[in-house]
Amino acid sequence: PRIAVVVGTRPEIIKMAEIVQLLGPRAMLVHSGQHWDDAMSGAFLRGLGLPAPVASLAVGGQTRAMQIAETIRGLESLFDRERPAAVVVQGDTNTVVGGAITANALEIPLVHVEAGLRSFDRRMPEEHNRVVTDHLADLCLAPTTNSRDNLLAEGIPADRISVTGNTIVGAVAAVLRATLETTYARIEELGLTPDDFVVATIHRPENTDDPRRLTTLLDNLAAIAERTRVLLPLHPRTRGRIASFGLDAKLAPLTLLDPLPYDEFVGLCAQAAFTISDSGGIQEEASVWRRPVIVVRRSTERPEVIGTFAHLCEPGHGLVREALALYAAKEFTIAQLAQLPSPYGDEHAAQRCLDALDQLVENRCV
Ligand code: UDP
Repeated sequence: PRIAVVVGTRPEIIKMAEIVQLLGPRAMLVHSGQHWDDAMSGAFLRGLGLPAPVASLAVGGQTRAMQIAETIRGLESLFDRERPAAVVVQGDTNTVVGGAITANALEIPLVHVEAGLRSFDRRMPEEHNRVVTDHLADLCLAPTTNSRDNLLAEGIPADRISVTGNTIVGAVAAVLRATLETTYARIEELGLTPDDFVVATIHRPENTDDPRRLTTLLDNLAAIAERTRVLLPLHPRTRGRIASFGLDAKLAPLTLLDPLPYDEFVGLCAQAAFTISDSGGIQEEASVWRRPVIVVRRSTERPEVIGTFAHLCEPGHGLVREALALYAAKEFTIAQLAQLPSPYGDEHAAQRCLDALDQLVENRCV
């Protein structure tokens, strides 16, 4: 019997890739289409060597409730027909909740990869997506003991939880092994000096949807760009908001890029003085490429790296101060972080996820 692996966005593809590869022909990859443009989706499937999805739904560009509804609608008929032995979802997107509710409704065992993350910030839709999915899951694969403890505190029994590490560790490590040469070529092509530039990514609604906050953030990046080059691979949502708020002129001091393929992005971040980002995944990745990240958010669901690899900071003068301080101390900081292990575990998380999944399927068959 096949195992349905449901993805919908760039980070889900990245973090599920090794699980899909290990499953081989058993994997039935489904794409919800939550991220629909090629630079955010197709390029990642191809770049990470994944098979074409057996089904691609088209839930992108709709409201949150409609994305969840359309995911359920698309998955129900597929799962009903194919009857997978289990459904695997990863992370905290609308696709994940849609997959979780469908599996639950059809009584197919549900596995949640990256379970137990909590920001305790109910303003974030992702927080609700995580809670709902963890409570529906038959198997919660927690990346750290901290995330396991969050699950236990909510009354999820220990026999439904397995601590695996995060598959991102293997994903970043594989890129770092493979792309050193091409990264140096790219750095040269962009006219950059290793350790002397910053990579920034912004895409969370809390930063993009309020024109005042977005303006402050772009002004902050421009202030930092007076000291060092700031690369900004622009997420389609952010590009759209900047245009509709008439903020394009604020981009002039920055080096704008399209969303980068994974290997190129990781290669650049691993040579940057630090990153500035509101991404969830980059907080984890920073602990593998071992460079600091300034997390431009109100809250984080990844407390394991705060104070070491990651520094939480809202837009405003504090952000510029933090960035300039990090820049001034970059040699020392980079040398210090090089000694620190990642709290997200080793490169074998995907195999541990698969072992736990196989155990679940086996128990169900008995
Ligand atoms: N990423 C990428 N190219 C880019 C920007 C980001 O490959 O131009 C990767 C990044 O390394 C991380 C993931 O995309 O693994 C983060 O995705 P995003 O920030 O969209 O989502 P989040 O992690 O916040 O869920």
